[in-house]
Amino acid sequence: MELACLDLEGVLIPEIWIAFAEKTGIDALKATTRDIPDYDVLMRQRLRLLDEHGYGLPAIQEVIGGLEPLEGAAEFLDWLRQRFQVVILSDTFYEFAMPLMAKLGFPALLCHRLEVDDTGRITNYRLRQRDPKRQSVRAFQLLNYRVIAAGDSYNDTTMLTQAEAGILFHAPQNVIDEFPQFPAVHTFDELKAQFLAASVIHSVC
Ligand SMILES: [Mg+2]
Repeated sequence: MELACLDLEGVLIPEIWIAFAEKTGIDALKATTRDIPDYDVLMRQRLRLLDEHGYGLPAIQEVIGGLEPLEGAAEFLDWLRQRFQVVILSDTFYEFAMPLMAKLGFPALLCHRLEVDDTGRITNYRLRQRDPKRQSVRAFQLLNYRVIAAGDSYNDTTMLTQAEAGILFHAPQNVIDEFPQFPAVHTFDELKAQFLAASVIHSVC
C-alpha cells in the first residue's frame, strides 16, 4: 500500500503569512520557514507582530478567504487522489487553512491549532506534536504504508527523509543545494512524473 504525503503552503496554496503581509504592509511577517528554520522562533515573532499591529484572527481569515490555490494545484490533487491515498501534512493551523481546503475538496489535513480569545486575538498556538511531519510518516509506515512525500522547505526535510521516497517541489535553491539527495522539480507535470517514478504500484502512467 502506498500513501502520498504533501506539504500545503508553497505546494498547493500560497504562503498564507506572505499573503497577509502583502495585504497589511507588515513586511516582517513575510518571514517563513525558508528564512527561519526554527518554527517556534518564527511563530513567536509572528504572534508578537500581530499583537503590535492589532490584528486578530478575523482580519487574517478575511485575507485567507480571498486567496486561491496555486494554479494547477486542484487538478494535480485530483490526479494524485485517483492513484494514492493522500494526506496533507502542514505546519499551518486549521483556523487558517479551512477556507482554502474548501477550494481543494477538503482532503485529509493534519496540522496545528490556534488559541484565540473572545476578542479574536491569537493568544497562543498549539503544535500537535514535535517534528509532526516526520512522526506522521512514521505512523503511516507502522500501518504498513509505503510513503512518498513532497514539500518545498526546511520543515519538510525530515518528512522527506523518513519517507521511502522524498521529492522537493517549488523549493528555493538553498534548500535544493542543502538536500541534493532529493529530486527537485518545479511544475505539477514533473511532480506527477516523480510520484509515478517513486511508486512501486504505478510504474507507468
Ligand atoms: Mg511549504
